[in-house]
Amino acid sequence: MHCYPWFIVIICCLAACQSDLDKKISQLQDVELTNPEIPFNRDSALSFVAKQVDFGPRVPNLPSHSNCADYLINKLSSYGLSVKVQEAEVENFRGDSLSLRNIIAQYQPQHKTRIALICHWDTRPYADRETDFAQQKMLPDGANDGGSGTAIMLEIARLTQKTDVDLGIDFFFFDGEETGPPEYDTSYAQTMNSYCLGSQYYCENPLLNMHQEVGVLLDIVGGQKAKFTLEHHSVNQAYQPMLTFWALGHNLGFGQYFLEEKTRFVGNDDHVELHKCSDVPIFALMEYDDSRQSYNTHQHKMSDNIENVSKESLYRVGGTLWYYLTNYSSLPHVNE
Ligand SMILES: [Zn+2]
Repeated sequence: MHCYPWFIVIICCLAACQSDLDKKISQLQDVELTNPEIPFNRDSALSFVAKQVDFGPRVPNLPSHSNCADYLINKLSSYGLSVKVQEAEVENFRGDSLSLRNIIAQYQPQHKTRIALICHWDTRPYADRETDFAQQKMLPDGANDGGSGTAIMLEIARLTQKTDVDLGIDFFFFDGEETGPPEYDTSYAQTMNSYCLGSQYYCENPLLNMHQEVGVLLDIVGGQKAKFTLEHHSVNQAYQPMLTFWALGHNLGFGQYFLEEKTRFVGNDDHVELHKCSDVPIFALMEYDDSRQSYNTHQHKMSDNIENVSKESLYRVGGTLWYYLTNYSSLPHVNE
């Protein structure tokens, strides 16, 4: 009988030691999830990356940028979404004028319960993380940085045409996220507001009521074996919804890619800007490479090409997101 108190101590310790993510995973086990009728298609998602890369760099003021915008608008419209285009003339850090297009597409615009999906579709105007000076001036494909988040959102948009989702979805394809100065030119400071010019413009001129219950930002999500951590802006804005998403990823067998590790590595991204003008809690999926304690190793390099994008990574993120959306009405029970 003298062991009994120890037994209590161990049980209490186990409960106390259970991490927030473990708690969320066990909460989610009580929720009956339904399989999405049509699964997220990894080949289709990868083909959307290839399509964007084929246009060339999506750098503002270039014809390849404009052609890709036209493609996105037509594609989203062809899926029956209500598409709004916000044209903006903005100035970058150097005072150059940039013609931007933010593209916003709505699924079921009348639905009261809404989720925001957010990406940037522009690409970096220089490969400034290359060490070779000549290469630094070249324009990366942005297959992962820009291309991957956009591709996943296009695939989700395509699926909404084929499956009834009891939800309204607002897709935000922001332009001008990559507008900050090149890292090799130290005469310009790497300020937060030199990036995300598209979402900054949107914040000043919003087109929609920003009443979405939650937002999911996708950026640099297609690297080989990409892993995701709890990025600190997201933790501040949307910790519980983010844990729910992570728990769902674990539930689907992707546990080793959704880490319960809080990291402080994002300089600026569109969720940080949007949070300045709305109360929408937004969490970001953005690859964290532990060995570099930074983004994917090909980011802002010429090697950010389609060979370094993995359709399995697109599937892990996109598949979890598709589950999240199609089961959303049951998931709020675990949002506390
Ligand atoms: Zn970038």
